Amino acid sequence: SEMLKDSAPKDGFKPRKVHVIGAGTMGADIAAWCVVSGMQASLQDLDEAQIGKALKRAKGLFKKRLRGKTAIDSAVARLIADPEGKHIKHADVIIEAIVEKLDVKQTLFAELEKKAKAGAVLATNTSSLRLEDIAKPLADPGRLVGLHFFNPVAQLPLVEVVRGEGTREEEVDKACAFVTAINKLPLITKSCPGFLVNRVLAPYMMEAVRLYQDGQPREKIDQAALKFGMPMGPMELMDMVGLDICNKVGEELDISPSSAGKTDNVLATLVKQGKLGKKTGEGFYVWV
Ligand code: NAD
Repeated sequence: SEMLKDSAPKDGFKPRKVHVIGAGTMGADIAAWCVVSGMQASLQDLDEAQIGKALKRAKGLFKKRLRGKTAIDSAVARLIADPEGKHIKHADVIIEAIVEKLDVKQTLFAELEKKAKAGAVLATNTSSLRLEDIAKPLADPGRLVGLHFFNPVAQLPLVEVVRGEGTREEEVDKACAFVTAINKLPLITKSCPGFLVNRVLAPYMMEAVRLYQDGQPREKIDQAALKFGMPMGPMELMDMVGLDICNKVGEELDISPSSAGKTDNVLATLVKQGKLGKKTGEGFYVWV
């Protein structure tokens, strides 16, 4: 793991309060994880029902990870539902985990920049958009950094700290210090499509989709991966990640199953049908 620490986080930045925008698959789990690590986290979403679901899921994590009623109650109290973003101005780190759409993220960051306190980290969890593009409307684009978490957040120690072309070194250092403070492992990557992990992982997933399109049963593909030693098969993993996200990453890297001259692309079709994986109850598998 020493190899991953290609920059030692600087002392001095001691984040205690995190504000997360987007209470979906990633945002909910990022906020909950920050709380497990002792921080206070406020959680914002346009859809209040998402925040409700997130708080419920977080409690499950607290019960699993923390010992004793006092610790669990204290964690519950440190996770704050904040539909209107009242806590933005107090946050040391602000993490955006909303829908993967450039214009929506741009609008949000332009607003966040005005509300955030000086010195607060402005971070995006984007998987496929260019940091430089998201930062464009900012008065200080050098402030934006990527904090790319992996799903499931509670189980995967790695977090990619993405340095955009214009990102200031100081912001990268602060982001690394934050990642270390929540007991994860920061890996600094360039702002290239797929960063590092998805460059390796996405072709594996897309190849599994091609196999499935060629008639291999999904269970067989997953079983093969499991017996090979992977912790989870690629079809199940895609359902966990969200098929919309996988499809987007595949397109971004120009390796989506349709790019090989196939007419039927199962992944894109499922996304069109609203079958996005575990979060909607169905993807490659049916989830109940
Ligand atoms: P999701 O669809 O599960 O959740 C997105 C949430 O954002 C929804 O609850 C939605 O109501 C909310 N939202 C949308 N627009 C908003 C706005 N303007 N203000 C406030 N809330 C808004 O999505 P997700 O899978 O959690 O992905 C979120 C981000 O994280 C994306 O950028 C994605 O690329 C990235 N990401 C996803 C994964 C993954 O495995 N799913 C992994 C790493 C990074």
